Amino acid sequence: MKKIHFVKGNRENGLTPIISDWMRSIMNDPDLIDGLLAKYGSPINIIHRDSFANNISDFGELFKNLGLTSQIFYARKANKCKAFVAQALRSGIGVDTASERELSQSIAMGATGKDLVLTAAIKTEPQIRLAIENGVPIILDNTDECQLVSHLASAMGREALVGFRVSGFTVEGKKRYSRFGFDVEQVASYIESTVGEGKPFENLRTVGLHFHLDGYSVLQRSVALLDCISIVKKLRAKGYPLRFIDIGGGILINYLAHKTEWQNFDARLRQSVKGESEPITFGNNGLGYELTDGNVSGKLATYPYYNETNGREFLKKILNYGDDSIQSIAEQLRNEGIEIRIEPGRSLLDQTGITIARVIHRKKDVNGQWLVGLEMNMSQMMSSSADFLLDPYLIFETPPGEDDEIEVYFTGAYCLERDVLLKRKITLPKLPEIDDKVVFVNTAGYMMHFFETQAHGFDLARNLILTDDYSPISVENFIDDNQIGGFAAN
Ligand SMILES: *Cc1c(COP(=O)(O)O)cnc(C)c1O
Repeated sequence: MKKIHFVKGNRENGLTPIISDWMRSIMNDPDLIDGLLAKYGSPINIIHRDSFANNISDFGELFKNLGLTSQIFYARKANKCKAFVAQALRSGIGVDTASERELSQSIAMGATGKDLVLTAAIKTEPQIRLAIENGVPIILDNTDECQLVSHLASAMGREALVGFRVSGFTVEGKKRYSRFGFDVEQVASYIESTVGEGKPFENLRTVGLHFHLDGYSVLQRSVALLDCISIVKKLRAKGYPLRFIDIGGGILINYLAHKTEWQNFDARLRQSVKGESEPITFGNNGLGYELTDGNVSGKLATYPYYNETNGREFLKKILNYGDDSIQSIAEQLRNEGIEIRIEPGRSLLDQTGITIARVIHRKKDVNGQWLVGLEMNMSQMMSSSADFLLDPYLIFETPPGEDDEIEVYFTGAYCLERDVLLKRKITLPKLPEIDDKVVFVNTAGYMMHFFETQAHGFDLARNLILTDDYSPISVENFIDDNQIGGFAAN
């Protein structure tokens, strides 16, 4: 049999993803993929730890170059694999936990108080006790929490290390709303009047400030950081031992290889919403754009997949913020001896995962559209935004002919009309055959697990960790994430 290599969908008018060599090695090996699907079922998620470790070093180097005391906490909610937690600890960074299970599992894997932070939106008693017992800083959001944490700490005869979550920063004259945290204008006086000896929350030890902003604005983060530096200075002067400012996550990544493709896509989507061209999405879904009075309104409601300023550069811009009138943020942090902390989720997971599924059927619907049914469902690759805008890859058993090009939508196993895996129409060099494979790349950040459900009683996808860079890679080089133990093991 002639070996067919992988082919990207949308030879023209595509959204070409950036991919890594390890992804290419796997996609170039149809026998390996057959072996993995035979052993583990469809779909499978493949995880590459070395890429994660590289992303960690990238941020670490920036802090080092800027001479900052820093710590990175991997926001593990973005992917449930234990392998990333183990790798985070091995790489010497911490873990941001947002639930009791995330916290207890991280502790069981060898994390200690200094490696952890608890940022859960809803904090239950067992969660808080576990954090206090292990000296894990708890990020506080409201008075009820302060009360409960202080009460539990006192009952345990301990002090609770806490940071206060701050929000409501005013940027370019506009106050930013958030449902989380204490208002920036009130937090300092709130802490002064409630925390400390003889005050309501005697057993809290305030060690830091925290914010995590919605969206991806560098300016908003810089302004928030400057505000927090002033608050730290003010509170330190009153005797509060604040050590760190934690600026949360939301560091942009760049998924796409070509800026022009991103711009063209936007233009073509507007055109199709306006009815000036064939639909390029299922049901002419505007992905945020709408037609009102013959005009396209709204804005693209997807993640901004193309970003020139991303990763380390994005963070660098925040830290170098400043002008003639103010010292740069990095300088201020150095001068004040404040530790800078970040909680990246998505950005540490860039290039660390792919999802592979098997083709089960093909059908032409009543509108003449080709639907390709995959053995997976919408919850196994679901974006929190309007669509996942990366072209998929196909692994065909037999090569396409000259004139076989075809437009398709990929559909999933849930009994919902909307279980269409990508809203975008994908042009393929030929109609896939049953048992051909589809590969979705760069799915580790949120796409694999965040919305995963087991409706219909389907099994969850298996998460397979590529243990090392073998050549050639074999089925035995992968371990199931369920088998991952502490960070010293595997
Ligand atoms: C979600 C979240 C993060 C991680 O955000 P990313 O966009 O994945 O980097 C970090 N901190 C908090 C408090 C969060 O809620």
